[in-house]
Amino acid sequence: MKTVVLIDDDTSFRKLMGKWLTVAGWNVLEAGDGEDGIQLALAHQPAAVICDLLMARCNGFQVCRSIREQGANIQQPRIIVTSGSGYATDQQSAMEVGADEYLIKPFKGDDLIRILERQSARQISIAAAPVPHKAPASLPADQPPRLKFWGVRGSIPTPGPSTVQYGGNTSCVEVRADGEIIILDAGSGIRRLGLALAKEFKDQPVELTLLITHTHWDHIQGFPFFVPAYNPQNKLRILGYEGARKGLYSTLTHQMESPYFPVSLQHVPANIDVTELKEFEFHVGKVRVQATFVNHPGVCAGYRLFTSAGSIAYLPDNEPFQRMRSHPGGQQTSDRLEALNYASDQDQKIIEFLKDADVLIIDSQYDDAEYQSHVGWGHGCVEDVVALALFAKVKQLFLFHHDPDHDDNQISKMLGWARQLVAMQGETLAVDAAREGLEYVLQPLPAKL
Ligand SMILES: [Zn+2]
Ligand SMILES: [Zn+2]
Repeated sequence: MKTVVLIDDDTSFRKLMGKWLTVAGWNVLEAGDGEDGIQLALAHQPAAVICDLLMARCNGFQVCRSIREQGANIQQPRIIVTSGSGYATDQQSAMEVGADEYLIKPFKGDDLIRILERQSARQISIAAAPVPHKAPASLPADQPPRLKFWGVRGSIPTPGPSTVQYGGNTSCVEVRADGEIIILDAGSGIRRLGLALAKEFKDQPVELTLLITHTHWDHIQGFPFFVPAYNPQNKLRILGYEGARKGLYSTLTHQMESPYFPVSLQHVPANIDVTELKEFEFHVGKVRVQATFVNHPGVCAGYRLFTSAGSIAYLPDNEPFQRMRSHPGGQQTSDRLEALNYASDQDQKIIEFLKDADVLIIDSQYDDAEYQSHVGWGHGCVEDVVALALFAKVKQLFLFHHDPDHDDNQISKMLGWARQLVAMQGETLAVDAAREGLEYVLQPLPAKL
């Protein structure tokens, strides 16, 4: 006679299941909680375990994990997880930790016996509906390249009356150029961008490219709320570099795992391709993209997009090297001069990278006084950013990645000071502070004679 361990803290339902199983010829061992159930399963090595998902003392996920972790030490039973709810994410999680089947309560005795005696391989019963094919929407070719800010804040979203002018959402910039929609980072600002895209394109599928600079939370946290990712007709390409500890795909997947979010990245319906970049130069359609690594904790990229009407450089998180090294509180090495020379070379590389950019969107989180107590945090200050833009002969500078503690007034003051610095140098660099909803259109390059 085959043995089944029945684990459920609902006594009456457990008794009912026990009766069905006994009648069907099973030897039934009962446990009222997960811990006792695991002990029974390990001691008796049953052919099957039927386990409720939500129990106070050791839930069904833990039961699956514990039994499967015993591996070769015991004969592995079939595990059927039962639950009063049918959330896809719970089913997926149960399968991932070792369940063979997932049965939603209430069910009939016949269903239980049929599933228990089925010898099929483990499977998840989530069927994807066939998707009718439609051609993706094409953007009007005669529109000049443009960008729009959807999130301009650093670190954490800061809604509230003191941030209405510039906005409280974290990093997200939309670029439309040469037939492409390119999204720079997926901070909380991407939520409203997603809603706007859904409204604009309605039933028409869209193809989007999302460039991720790095996976700090303020640059990816909005992605789970990006509506176009939930339309199975849409195509979304996500590009970025491998992070310091984990790959891009793994980091994006983890933030959508069951403890944090109800839909896993694998179950997001759009056609999503996550690619880790291995080169510093690549193309998104006709737009050539150059990338570089910047000075920021972990692995953080900056991108420069070369459109048919000039280039847009995006460095949302960056601390100029030389400032960091030359500051008394900054990183020191045994040979100070050598360190400073190295830092100067690194800054020079960034200047080269930005040379003659039409638009520069860059981390200007602090003012000079604030920077003194934030050396080595990986962010820049207005004075350095203006100097960098002037050295690189940039045409339009956008102060970006505003500090969450800065209210509208403070950002306006920093903008005024940046403009004053430019004027003091007798230069013509245009400066603005990035704000949600602000659009900037690149002027088409004059036709060559
Ligand atoms: Zn950031
Ligand atoms: Zn960061």
